[in-house]
Amino acid sequence: MLDRTTTDTQRLLIDGRRIAAGSGRSFETLNPATGEVLAHVAEADAGDVDAAVRSSRAALDGEWGHMRAADRGALLLRLAELVRQNADELTRIESLDSGKPVSAIRRQDLPAVIDTLTYYAGMADKINGQVIPARPDALTYTIREPLGVVGAIVPWNFPLMIGMWKIAPALACGCTVVLKPAEITPLSALMIGELALEAGIPAGVLNVVPGFGQVAGQAIVDHPDIDKVTFTGSPRVGHQILQGAAGNFKRVTLELGGKSANIIFPDADIDSAVKAAGSGIFFNTGQVCSAGSRILVHESIHDEVVERLAARAAGMRIGDPLESGTNMGPIVSEAQMNRILDYIDIGRKEGAHIVTGGNRIGDRGYYVEPTVFAGVHHEMRISQEEIFGPVAAVMPFADEDDAIRIANGTAYSLAAGVWTKDVTRAHRFTRELRAGTVWVNTYGPTDIRLPWGGVRDSGFGREHGEAAIDNFTEPKVVWINTGR
Ligand code: NAD
Repeated sequence: MLDRTTTDTQRLLIDGRRIAAGSGRSFETLNPATGEVLAHVAEADAGDVDAAVRSSRAALDGEWGHMRAADRGALLLRLAELVRQNADELTRIESLDSGKPVSAIRRQDLPAVIDTLTYYAGMADKINGQVIPARPDALTYTIREPLGVVGAIVPWNFPLMIGMWKIAPALACGCTVVLKPAEITPLSALMIGELALEAGIPAGVLNVVPGFGQVAGQAIVDHPDIDKVTFTGSPRVGHQILQGAAGNFKRVTLELGGKSANIIFPDADIDSAVKAAGSGIFFNTGQVCSAGSRILVHESIHDEVVERLAARAAGMRIGDPLESGTNMGPIVSEAQMNRILDYIDIGRKEGAHIVTGGNRIGDRGYYVEPTVFAGVHHEMRISQEEIFGPVAAVMPFADEDDAIRIANGTAYSLAAGVWTKDVTRAHRFTRELRAGTVWVNTYGPTDIRLPWGGVRDSGFGREHGEAAIDNFTEPKVVWINTGR
């Protein structure tokens, strides 16, 4: 039983109130560990999105828009404290809705949410303009104004964490937010919206409109009074968002997919490399934009790495995500599970060899075995396309040039890893790998202080750090004629 599903339907959160969708419609969100209905959720359409945007605009023109920056920061800190106090319930809701193991949410998602809020709380009153002495007869300077109403559209793989990557900097800058969570994981966003109100963040500053992408999401993209869309999701939807945003020249940030290469040289610490390669692809059931889904191994150690990686896959503790010992839960939905199983089939037909895994587990819930493919060729679809599941494509390389050619040879450029003790080689690779982040002798860590994002089919713009402040502010020039 969800503690916060005391009403029949989880209602929208608009202007500080939980309200039914204008259409009266709702949709089901399922527990992927069982396939059973977890809650009914009000389904926002264009009319509801419009009400949310009007509320967010009014908040911007009202108390929120006139608040001291330091006070905005204090409210974000208060929200961080409430997240801490409600950690157990948030963890449970996130786990039930997404299938993420509670152990992972406790270790990663929630600390990241709190860190994000704390970091941007501290930044709220440090968003400075510049005095730029352009001419002797003028005082010329910039101020950085909030961009306005932000539409935040988030995916289901890290609903809380990715949502907060958008909410916290937007609010620190003085913007207001209309948040649309993914339709398969809407619950934690509604709870964050409630906690924001409890923290004292004024009504309308954060509205939450669960609903389907083609309806509620598209309504955000098309809305003429939204100034910016910040989106994390697939390249396919990224294209649609760019096209829709052109209508009123909305600013857009896109964090899209990846097919990241994790490259292992023989001089690396092989124990650490294999361990990180395993977590790089199996963490969060492989549903990670920066998953190290292509593992490139020097031919001299290829067979050994494949064998050890397969042993790690077989050793994963797969099961009920609510059990603290589980380190791999179900896939988020039946559709996503079927997509992964289809890709496994494609890999087989392309001639790659399954070393371990390859099957659905049981018939209750959406579990898939951690899978390792060897004998993968760079041109195969399982090497080129994002599977977004626990499926590793391992391939050998002959030398540095070969590794770079393969690593850079997909449409994506989000992240990459390289394992070597040769410092000059490490530097060569950090320069030559096309990626927003290159990890050396580690794989996967992110930090809110460091810019995050990609290029090409992985999107554009950067979240995190000071880069996010640029995403949510616009510089204004003031030119004061001082005479002479
Ligand atoms: P998705 O693109 O299908 O959906 C993402 C969000 O967009 C959802 O909220 C969905 O409802 C909404 N949406 C769908 N159609 C829309 C439309 N026409 N207009 C507006 N919104 C619409 O992606 P997903 O399946 O939820 O997530 C998986 C994808 O996200 C993967 O490709 C993954 O790599 C990517 N991702 C990227 C990052 C990153 O930081 N780069 C992080 C996590 C996930």
